[in-house]
Amino acid sequence: MCLLHFVVPALVSLGTPPVDHVVIVSVDGLRADALEAHALEQLPAFSRLFQGPHTLNARCDPDSSVTLPNHVGMVTGRSMRGPGGHAYELNTLPLAPAAGGLVRPSPTRYIASCFDVAHDAGLSTAAIASKLKFTLFVQTWGEDYGAPDTDVRGGDNGTNKIGTFAFAHEMPQVTAGVIDALDDAPRGLIFVHYALPDSVGHTTGWTTEPDQPWMASVKVIDTELGRLLSAIDADPALNDRTAVILTTDHGGGVPFRTHTDPDALVNYRIPFVVWIDGAELSSDLYTANSGARTDPGVDRTPSHEQGAAPIRNTDAGNAALQLLGLDPIPGSTYGGESLPLAVTSPAPAAPRAGS
Ligand SMILES: [Zn+2]
Repeated sequence: MCLLHFVVPALVSLGTPPVDHVVIVSVDGLRADALEAHALEQLPAFSRLFQGPHTLNARCDPDSSVTLPNHVGMVTGRSMRGPGGHAYELNTLPLAPAAGGLVRPSPTRYIASCFDVAHDAGLSTAAIASKLKFTLFVQTWGEDYGAPDTDVRGGDNGTNKIGTFAFAHEMPQVTAGVIDALDDAPRGLIFVHYALPDSVGHTTGWTTEPDQPWMASVKVIDTELGRLLSAIDADPALNDRTAVILTTDHGGGVPFRTHTDPDALVNYRIPFVVWIDGAELSSDLYTANSGARTDPGVDRTPSHEQGAAPIRNTDAGNAALQLLGLDPIPGSTYGGESLPLAVTSPAPAAPRAGS
């Protein structure tokens, strides 16, 4: 019985990666119930992304519902604690690298990221963030502390795993940075972080009623995602060759103006969406991964995955690499060989027309 109900784009040929560009979008503090069906009617860009396989019942890190540990998990494919964890537990502006401000459990233990794999394979890489604490990324995987390039296939691309790192406070600037990065190279991996729903939540609370400030902030992000999708639509080099993976670091609302309680459903229940431009895809990621992942219902699934694991935001990095036809992040768990997540059909697709 085939459990994979979706098909890859018609233009994908055997041996060709599904896409040339992947944008990992993290919308900070995006609790899942903001994207329930009734809300999607007012959110046209989110709604379009939901044409791809998705779930509203993914989980954040098993032991953390704050920003930096979860984002480190997204790009490393590791949870925070436990065997193989990335061990980065701070959520403040990072210390200087020499003072411990690196994602590195010990001085000699390098933690690779999805940027490492894409960069070393010769792809363009970028991270555009709207919180200054993301300097952790460029400290850890920038020129000074990034690992040597051991992937001989792409030549020696050096130690700077994040080719473009940018901070932008205003949401339209964030989107402009992503569009620039998409235009920059024929193939690439872009991570983008929109902070607004988190900052509005900390000010007014995570109120999901349609006329409240927090939902207005989600609509602002919908407008930005619409601009991004329009840019993809308008560029023939991106049409049918671009994917978006949308998730978040955590939800929010417990306590009311924050999200620090890792036991609260509204904090740990998050969306995870995979959209491939031009593809006809099914709707449910748990159905597509039946046997490999288990829908946790309302459970937090706190520890280190006894039995089948839920889908987590920590799946984002390897899902992106899978779509780009690249190997998983070395040492990663989520979306790697030990805990795979199918985001596109493994079945051979029809050859490219005319070839
Ligand atoms: Zn926050």
